[in-house]
Amino acid sequence: MYDPNNIFGRILRGEIPVAKVYENEHVLSFMDGMPQSDGHTLVIPKVPSRNLFDAQPDVLAELIKATQYVAKGVKKAFNPDGIRIAQFNEPAAGQTVFHLHFHIIPCYEGQELRVHARGMADPALLTAHATKVVDALKKQGP
Ligand code: 5GP
Repeated sequence: MYDPNNIFGRILRGEIPVAKVYENEHVLSFMDGMPQSDGHTLVIPKVPSRNLFDAQPDVLAELIKATQYVAKGVKKAFNPDGIRIAQFNEPAAGQTVFHLHFHIIPCYEGQELRVHARGMADPALLTAHATKVVDALKKQGP
């Protein structure tokens, strides 16, 4: 059911670099590598689960708390008109990476979201975006 060699499992083991935004003992948050809009951020639990259905309730609680916290930072950093929080279960629903995660997707009036999970962004741009969120979170406090 859970394959530890999925891309987020590898990111958690430090095998693949990411533009990190936030980390605590329960979660890791980083910029989506193929962002649907500027500021598209992911939050993942550190313990393995494929998606919503095999996750422990306490893991889900920490994940949504962290998602709210990071989303506030994304809001402050990018000042979008709205923010979509998304989570997909299985390929038919759009899941492409099989380690549970929440998407934080800023939405801007008059601007369509880019296609899901297509076209890797410039790593330098992702790092710059992560820095903006990190700075906003620092101002925001815990
Ligand atoms: P899903 O389709 O499973 O809901 O979302 C997976 C997300 O992971 C996609 O939005 C995709 O852009 C992102 N993603 C896939 N591979 C990588 C990667 O290597 N690095 C980062 N930062 N994001 C990735």
